[in-house]
Amino acid sequence: MYHSTTSLVKLFLIKMKKYNLIYILLICIGCNSQNNNNSETNQQRSKYKINKSDIEWRKELNSLQYYVLRQAGTERAFTGKYDKNFSEGVYVCAACQSPLYESGYKYDSKSGWPSFDRGITENIEYDVDYKLGYARSELKCSSCGGHLGHLFNDGPKSTTGKRHCINSAALIFISKK
Ligand SMILES: [Zn+2]
Repeated sequence: MYHSTTSLVKLFLIKMKKYNLIYILLICIGCNSQNNNNSETNQQRSKYKINKSDIEWRKELNSLQYYVLRQAGTERAFTGKYDKNFSEGVYVCAACQSPLYESGYKYDSKSGWPSFDRGITENIEYDVDYKLGYARSELKCSSCGGHLGHLFNDGPKSTTGKRHCINSAALIFISKK
């Protein structure tokens, strides 16, 4: 009888230890996920130099600019004002005015969207989106995170072979004249 009681106590203690461990594990997992969430939020907050709320962007941008830059939308082909613009100057981000493309990088891809064989590298961020169900290289403004367009490999072979397919609505052209 005594023996079996001791066994029961031992069993109880073992179980308690087990549960304690589980409890500690749960606390740790909780802490970790909280830390991850915090660092994610901090990362999102600090990733771009220019951080504005959705309400602020809605106020500052017209509806097409907002749709393209903040919702990663695409303007209809051949409707953008810079598709056939070949004047000398620089294209800046319509949201934050960061310089993104020199007119010398522009060429006529006949795609219906302004096309550049390269960008001002340090001001452009490369990301991946799966909006059409497969991976596409997304191009963003690295200062404000605004969506610009996509990168394709059918650009002019004589230069980079790349095509930065950009929405006119994401850009503002500043003429050199
Ligand atoms: Zn920007």
